[in-house]
Amino acid sequence: EAIRLVAPFVAALLASVIIAVHTIIAPPHPLRPVFPSLIILGLLILVLIRQGITVLENTKLQQEWVQAQINETALAEAKRQMELFLGVVGHELKTPLTALNLRHQLAERSLQGIQQTLAQEGHTIPKQLTLLLQQHALTHLQLLRMNRLVEDLLDVARIQEGRLLLRTAPVDLVLCVSATVEDLRQSLGDHRIKMIMAPRGQVIVLADEGRLEQVITNLLTNALKYSPDSCPVEIGVEAVHDQGRVWVRDAGPGVPEGEQQHIWERFYRVPGLEVQSGSGIGLGIGLYICKTIIEQHHGQIGVTSQPGQGATFWFTLPRLIRPLPEAAKD
Ligand code: ADP
Repeated sequence: EAIRLVAPFVAALLASVIIAVHTIIAPPHPLRPVFPSLIILGLLILVLIRQGITVLENTKLQQEWVQAQINETALAEAKRQMELFLGVVGHELKTPLTALNLRHQLAERSLQGIQQTLAQEGHTIPKQLTLLLQQHALTHLQLLRMNRLVEDLLDVARIQEGRLLLRTAPVDLVLCVSATVEDLRQSLGDHRIKMIMAPRGQVIVLADEGRLEQVITNLLTNALKYSPDSCPVEIGVEAVHDQGRVWVRDAGPGVPEGEQQHIWERFYRVPGLEVQSGSGIGLGIGLYICKTIIEQHHGQIGVTSQPGQGATFWFTLPRLIRPLPEAAKD
């Protein structure tokens, strides 16, 4: 900066010296005393103007940089406050939600008990009871969604505080995916999911099974959520060299290339992308949690997608090559 500021002055000074020396040693001329002085003066004015503009530009750049820093700090602070707030919301919701779950289960069991007794005694089941049980099933679905949302909020807080701990053990990825798909089919009543699986016992990884189920559930619910009701969703497990690979493919709108790096960020949602089926709930934290969980397992997660041709979300985990003892497979 200093060189940039001083160099033009040095150049002007040198030029002035050369002109002055030339004026002294050159043969006499009627205009000689005025002409060189005018050139030197002009040079100095030009340099002054140029440097004045540079100083003004630098000051403006510096102000913009300071403003950008302030904005960045404010954004980071706002994000931190939002996380803090959502963490508190998660904690506050957890207790009443647990109580609600418990009461819901109790009520459902009582209703099912009454239904069973009536059936055993040969009575016809009243229509109101059937309706009530249907209502309970719907409430159960909403409770599951709320539980997932609250758990996600708490997970974000856990990740920020470095408290997302893994309890790892050998896991058969094929069994883990099949069980998760079965759970989802039952809880959502959605039968769009197709499985393309490697043989059992072939893809063993060292993992926290609960956390893996969480990742698989998240990728599958996203695939169901962001694709039309009529389109199937496929999930596959395969062994690729020393890696176990799980992929989830949907036929929805896909993820534009420019968005593919951002969807893993906290609270990021692709602008203008609407949920196509099921619930519209979404905070933009599911994929962030998935990425953190997979990376904590020393794996990789990603997406490949062509706009309008669906998306394939995948993750890989290092395979345990040593086979499981027979007992552990069952
Ligand atoms: P959300 O709760 O909003 O679904 P996620 O973190 O799971 O949050 O996903 C982040 C964003 O990535 C979503 O809001 C959506 O815009 C995009 N996305 C995720 N899965 C898909 C998918 N299968 N197809 C298209 N876009 C997706």
